[in-house]
Amino acid sequence: AKGSDHSRYWFFNRQIHDTLLRQHELLERLQRAIERQELCVHYQPQVSSMSGRIENLEALVRWFPEDGGEPVPPSEFIPLAERFNLIHRLGDWIVREVCRQQACWKAAGLNGYRIDINFSGRQIAVPGVFDQLQRCMQEYHLNHRDIGIELTENVLVQADDSVLESLHRLYHRGMKIAIDDFGTGYSTLSYLKLFPVTSLKIDRSFVTDAPASPRDRAILAGIVFIAHRLGLEVVAEGVETLAQLELMRDLNCDLVQGHYHFRPMPAAEVQRLMRDQPLL
Ligand code: C2E
Ligand code: CA
Ligand code: CA
Ligand code: CA
Repeated sequence: AKGSDHSRYWFFNRQIHDTLLRQHELLERLQRAIERQELCVHYQPQVSSMSGRIENLEALVRWFPEDGGEPVPPSEFIPLAERFNLIHRLGDWIVREVCRQQACWKAAGLNGYRIDINFSGRQIAVPGVFDQLQRCMQEYHLNHRDIGIELTENVLVQADDSVLESLHRLYHRGMKIAIDDFGTGYSTLSYLKLFPVTSLKIDRSFVTDAPASPRDRAILAGIVFIAHRLGLEVVAEGVETLAQLELMRDLNCDLVQGHYHFRPMPAAEVQRLMRDQPLL
């Protein structure tokens, strides 16, 4: 028995070692990637559940390493950037890139497509992060309807008074603020009282389970009811099937986002889609 404990110890030790090594390598590569502009932003359309029309876009950062390595998913490098104080630079870069792209699209006559940007916990903990966003928007002559903000409940729980103040300011200037992954954080409903939000993005887990689960459908119906009573817009995330789409439509979700309609895609591709849409 002693022998097997011993080998187990080495096994775990080895695993921890490998994990740390991988993190360290990834961190160095990420630093270089930010410097060398190996990052880009993809866009996923949010479409009207009724008409199927593209209404808004969500900006999602992508990292395609130039050394030919596999793309690294944001679920891996965003937390890493947070832990090692790179999120500030990374976040600034994303904001700037999205503002630049939005200005480009507006100049090309593609108007009325809001682009939502994700902000992580450490990112909003950086003082002045939203002032920086505003400055960047001004620089590119954007208005408060051109850009939106997505924050998860877990991010909001960490928000201090100055963040709250910034959010109120943006809200009063007409900026859309969404609670992301709605339903997965803690004490969900109090956020609707405390924070100036305009939309709820219902987490994919509810959407996935809804067709087979009367319980999930009941929860969804309740969420949509409350949201609409509060004048909030409801977005269903991760819609992958026709059955899910139809259900979200029946439940009165305003917008749907997911692989059933579109995956996140490069700017040029989404630009083509927007251009080919009939004008309203
Ligand atoms: P999120 O904000 O909840 O973004 C939605 C995620 O769901 C994206 O993953 C998107 O590609 C994926 N998705 C969209 N439709 C479907 C679907 O129908 N089925 C499935 N299975 N997945 C779908 P992605 O791009 O890998 O991003 C993962 C997370 O990384 C994001 O979750 C967000 O928390 C973070 N993230 C991504 N881009 C940024 C960014 O620019 N800044 C910050 N701070 N975080 C980001
Ligand atoms: Ca999001
Ligand atoms: Ca989400
Ligand atoms: Ca998520």
